[in-house]
Amino acid sequence: MTTDPIAPRRASVPVDVGGVTVGGSAPVVVQSMTNTDTADVPGTVAQVAALARTGSELVRITVDRDEAAKSVPHIREKLDAMGCDVPLVGDFHYIGHTLLAENPACAEALAKYRINPGNVGFKDKKDRQFSEIIELALRHAKPVRIGVNWGSLDQELLTLLMDKNARDPEPKDARAVMHEAMVQSGLHSAHRAEELGLGADKIIISAKVSSIQDLVAVYVSLARRCDYALHLGLTEAGMGSKGIVASSAAMGILLQHGIGDTIRFSLTPEPGGDRTVEVRTAQELLQTMGLRAFVPVVAACPGCGRTTSTVFQELARDVQDMIQERMPEWTARYPGVETLNLAVMGCIVNGPGESKHADVGISLPGTGETPAAPVFIDGKKAMTLRGPTIAADFKRVVEEYIERRYG
Ligand code: SF4
Repeated sequence: MTTDPIAPRRASVPVDVGGVTVGGSAPVVVQSMTNTDTADVPGTVAQVAALARTGSELVRITVDRDEAAKSVPHIREKLDAMGCDVPLVGDFHYIGHTLLAENPACAEALAKYRINPGNVGFKDKKDRQFSEIIELALRHAKPVRIGVNWGSLDQELLTLLMDKNARDPEPKDARAVMHEAMVQSGLHSAHRAEELGLGADKIIISAKVSSIQDLVAVYVSLARRCDYALHLGLTEAGMGSKGIVASSAAMGILLQHGIGDTIRFSLTPEPGGDRTVEVRTAQELLQTMGLRAFVPVVAACPGCGRTTSTVFQELARDVQDMIQERMPEWTARYPGVETLNLAVMGCIVNGPGESKHADVGISLPGTGETPAAPVFIDGKKAMTLRGPTIAADFKRVVEEYIERRYG
């Protein structure tokens, strides 16, 4: 028997990010990032609002130049006017200290500043520019995310650790030294921020890499060595199913051990694609792991040679579409509806069993079976549907169940 090498993490220090708690005993927070030019106020407002509507609880925007910094308060105002209060996080590289100092309205409108210790400044400027950002965070009472990324890892620190390792009689491999450099980069910066007066309740750390095993190693080490809230994400995860699978595998391992207080899926959208996919994917990961509930879940079998018609695939899709369409109203009228479990199954083999585990489940007739579909409610057979209106009838049964249980 093997023992699990990753010990469960104890609760981190909670951080208030514009009214959203990250860490402590709070549920894992979903966040996302825009890909609009922040200087484009209408475009950024529209994308932030879409991400927030989908369920992003924090939205990060790029603040890369003066025009972008000047736009931030206008973006905040317009979102507030729309009734969208999602906290905005500013992403700063190289000149964050200058942009924040010269644009106090931007510094105030943001709920958190994200800085990268690998590019906050170089050589003698590094400490000074880092201190300036922390002082601005203190002045505006904002938390800071210290976001280490291996694509921009502090090269001075890495060289120092590589040299030290080379002198060691039992040197580690280069990958292990890189992991240590990432952890130390995050922790050094966090400790320095605390020396400057920023409390642990204003500090979040992330240390993103693009390989699953590296990400797990780095975060396990970070979680063992600090109580700071941790932001999780596999950087440069990629497009489509590759990005989703890689991010889910990496974050799933860590979340299972209580590591990670907020997550983001860094998915590359198709050109002109829907940015909100990263939010839905993050929600699906948390919900399938049983960590949070966002929307009713539909369990559906994959189908096989026992069901040669497309009836059950169409019903599974119809029910999924109904959920997406009805959720805004359901959420307002039926608190708790997001915990509902539905099942749409293809034949008698697993259909009745799986349907009994759901709140409402239907077992459609497979090839050669009697054309009747038993419906199970709260584990008991409630009725049998027949004929061409099975789909409409089942959706009605679901609506009635929701009204009865959550109304
Ligand atoms: S429930 Fe029936 S149709 Fe669905 S995968 Fe199992 S055997 Fe095939």
